[in-house]
Amino acid sequence: MGIENVSSRIADIQSRMIALQTQQTGRNVQAQPAKAASGPGGDFADYLKDAVNAAPTANKSYSLNSKGIPTDLAAYGNGRIPASALEPVGNTRHKLWAPAAQSLNQMIGDAKKDGVHIGITDSYRPYAEQVDLARRKGLYSQGGLAAKPGTSEHGWGMATDLDLNAKALSWMKQNGEKYGFVMNVPRENWHWAYKPKSV
Ligand SMILES: [Zn+2]
Repeated sequence: MGIENVSSRIADIQSRMIALQTQQTGRNVQAQPAKAASGPGGDFADYLKDAVNAAPTANKSYSLNSKGIPTDLAAYGNGRIPASALEPVGNTRHKLWAPAAQSLNQMIGDAKKDGVHIGITDSYRPYAEQVDLARRKGLYSQGGLAAKPGTSEHGWGMATDLDLNAKALSWMKQNGEKYGFVMNVPRENWHWAYKPKSV
């Protein structure tokens, strides 16, 4: 298939997805179209699945358990959360626990109004990536920069690594907490965990 064909096919599917989502708003949306589209091009199948699962979350209530882990994600396990259970941060490829994603997106928008650019380097981190990072950067407990795999805040979609220049870092230090984001790892001024006072 030529690029143009692929593009028009994607546009066609996207418009169908929107129609489908509109029809199914408020119901539990099953990922049937993603199944139909699986096979070669797994990334595209994932994209479709995410699009289908990006149902409005306004009616869902969120909470944290006694360990500060989102109750709706706890059963999946750290780094083992399906993409559909997380929420994209604005229109980026980054995903977090839904309230964290919404708050981060709001924060980035508000910073922009102050003339401050906040970039995202990393967000949810699957278990395999935690293992890889620990191998490459060493464990924090041993002077490195990685959490023990299976314990990372990124594995719960509860932390983001931000790309901050000096101005943005200063803005974050002043304003991050208002949005629930705190810099809680001493040697990592890019790592901001979501620790909201209330959800
Ligand atoms: Zn981090």
